[in-house]
Amino acid sequence: MLKEGLEGRKSVWFHENSAPVNSAYAKDVCDVAILPIGAIEQHAAHCPCGMDTFNAIGIAEKVAEKTGAMLLPCPMYGSHPHHHWGMPGTIPLTFETHIALLMDIVRGAAVSGFNKFIIISAHGQVSSTIVAVHKLGIEGYFTISSTWYDFLRDNKTVLKDYMWHADEAETSVGLYLYPEMIDMSLAEPGGGQGLIEGDWKIAPGAAAAPGMLYHFEGTFALPEKDDLDNGTIGDPTSASREKGEKLVEGVANHYVRLVEEIRKKYACGINPLGFRNPIGYNYTDQIKYDKDHDEKGRLKK
Ligand SMILES: [Zn+2]
Repeated sequence: MLKEGLEGRKSVWFHENSAPVNSAYAKDVCDVAILPIGAIEQHAAHCPCGMDTFNAIGIAEKVAEKTGAMLLPCPMYGSHPHHHWGMPGTIPLTFETHIALLMDIVRGAAVSGFNKFIIISAHGQVSSTIVAVHKLGIEGYFTISSTWYDFLRDNKTVLKDYMWHADEAETSVGLYLYPEMIDMSLAEPGGGQGLIEGDWKIAPGAAAAPGMLYHFEGTFALPEKDDLDNGTIGDPTSASREKGEKLVEGVANHYVRLVEEIRKKYACGINPLGFRNPIGYNYTDQIKYDKDHDEKGRLKK
């Protein structure tokens, strides 16, 4: 997927460029890095288990092509709320594993000169992303975490229903980005009971109304393996490629605005936080060697 006009890059993806190309790009062109994250999670019979990961990658690629941000390789796995655990098709990381994974990726990419980080999540995993970005902030890494459906908030202009799971919204995005993996002949509506009434909870793609719990975190549902009819929440039968294109392009444009603002305000080489705590070998230019070693840590002859 080599693109023209990449200002010295061969690819928008960090792992498809050489190390010197990535370092030079961060130093001279753009030091904003986007980390797309998804999950390996059952998405009913009509969608692949990697759906959230593919959605994160697809949206992030569009943002990177339009803004010059570098894409960090996407980890396939994510963390999951309690009610996802034990469901066939879902492979959850523990919260601690996922927090550590995100932090290590940001620290490692910073060594190549990237100073501004945006996490684009396509999966409900704020239980780990919120902790990770604040721990990274304490260490001095400028890191913004987002979930793509925060930029959806469609309120039923494109969609008939709000976004839920393997539903109209997600299936439409799949039909736009990777139609070969979607089998609409198997799509059927589904849902669960829930332990509290649905109107307490803001749907992932809906705007908040008074009296709603914003992050709707908690043990509000029984385990999916018992609660769900067929792995779907919502109705995927009204999904279409056209809806998917509107959702993806609309969301990508909000991210483009965010990256452009950061690039305009803070030139290459500037960490908006203005500091970085030395945390060890990952941040090697903070290491001061003693008089017996040169500036690269080699023992003097
Ligand atoms: Zn999903």
